[in-house]
Amino acid sequence: MERKLLIERSAEGKQSLVLPSCDVPERPIENYIPKNLLRSQECGLPEISEPEVVRHFVNLSTLNHHVDKDFYPLGSCTMKYNPKINDAVAGNPCLAEVHPFQEESTIQSALKIYHDVEQYLCAITGMKRFTLQPAAGSHGELCGVMIMRAYHMAKGNHKTTVLIPDSAHGTNPSSVHLGGYNAVTVKSTQEGLVDLDDLKAKLSDDVAGFMLTNPNTLGIFEKNVLEISELVHSVDGLMYMDGANMNALLGVVKTEAMNFDITHINLHKTFSTPHGGGGPGSGPIGVVEKLVPYLPVPIIEKKNDTYFLDWDQSESIGKMMGFWGNYSVIVRTWVYIRMLGEKGLKDVSKYAIINANYIRASLKDVYDLPFQSPTMHECVFSGDRQKEHGVRTLDIAKRMLDYGVHAPTIYFPLIVHEALMIEPTETESKESLDHFIGIMRAIADESKNNPGIVTSAPQETPVKRLDEVKANRELNVRW
Ligand SMILES: *Cc1c(COP(=O)(O)O)cnc(C)c1O
Repeated sequence: MERKLLIERSAEGKQSLVLPSCDVPERPIENYIPKNLLRSQECGLPEISEPEVVRHFVNLSTLNHHVDKDFYPLGSCTMKYNPKINDAVAGNPCLAEVHPFQEESTIQSALKIYHDVEQYLCAITGMKRFTLQPAAGSHGELCGVMIMRAYHMAKGNHKTTVLIPDSAHGTNPSSVHLGGYNAVTVKSTQEGLVDLDDLKAKLSDDVAGFMLTNPNTLGIFEKNVLEISELVHSVDGLMYMDGANMNALLGVVKTEAMNFDITHINLHKTFSTPHGGGGPGSGPIGVVEKLVPYLPVPIIEKKNDTYFLDWDQSESIGKMMGFWGNYSVIVRTWVYIRMLGEKGLKDVSKYAIINANYIRASLKDVYDLPFQSPTMHECVFSGDRQKEHGVRTLDIAKRMLDYGVHAPTIYFPLIVHEALMIEPTETESKESLDHFIGIMRAIADESKNNPGIVTSAPQETPVKRLDEVKANRELNVRW
């Protein structure tokens, strides 16, 4: 179906609107735009050919780094290659041109997609139900904390705190705080795992829950998760899994098997939506059976092959979003899951884990590795050894831009000095991993023998090193 709106100009210079594929009679443009606002002459826009326009935008796009250009190992962010078919399906007018105010009977396909994705996520995690409303991982965390609160209030529990490991993502304490609880930090051990003694010391009847990232932000699987869950459940606390790192767990272990009660999943990371530059996102929340009544309304239900929105949930925390969830991200998730199937999804995690461990093993002789345990989908090095030559992790990250790859996440997690957090994802071939390893080894060598070239990087990028403090304080985003 074509619905282009065209303005045509007759030989006498008269303009009229043409709606090519609709049976609407042509009408003079004055019917749409007041006469005094119409141009009397051509406006003299430059005439540019298609190749010139294409080259302009292609060249612009290469000024920035993106995953279509080269390796993008931004730890914790899961910058995988996103299949283009996702975009083609999400942009299909049959799916893209629906509106949430339409009658339910006219948006059955859209509701089916929401319903299917919920079922897939339940199968992947073992959770009873999901809401697809939250528009980011952090938004999901807030939703999860609100559900935690609703649960404790309904039980008459008086709880004040939520425990969080010191390796947690910064959004965790913010979400806990926004949800009305105090965030209390639990230490990590030398191994990079939750310190069980510190957890026991901080556990009390005041504890509403524990927000744990697994695998944690060091890329390490919390092998004591069952013991942690038992401890937290013993004070009627809820176990919340920050599941942003689900890329490591697909088909490997279910959230339910680790005794978590609530989890969020970042669809834009694990389930493939391009999300550089802060969006778009989707952070669905899954819960065990006893928490289902508190999920946001509406729930998408199916009865006799008809999908509908169920608003009848008296204990619900309410709504988390304007409508029912970030639709285009959810459509991409649907395509991605259906395309890969059960085995394909399991392979995603297997390859993500193998790739991270390959990098870890290939670089540990030249960069410090503060935590020795094998990792899951990412590995965290320290630039401490390079610091002895006056080279900081920030310099290493900038030098990587000269070599044409994106920098990893740096200075996070906070418990690692000069952290370099590398997540290759499953979508990279051995050749591209070897290329990256070669670059990292070259930079380690330069740091020792020619540190100036590292500390003055980048030299090859369109914009050289910024004064980041000034840029933050005096933001100027114009040309
Ligand atoms: C990305 C991430 C989040 C936050 O997700 P957003 O969608 O960016 O809000 C939370 N925790 C971890 C471990 C993450 O990697």
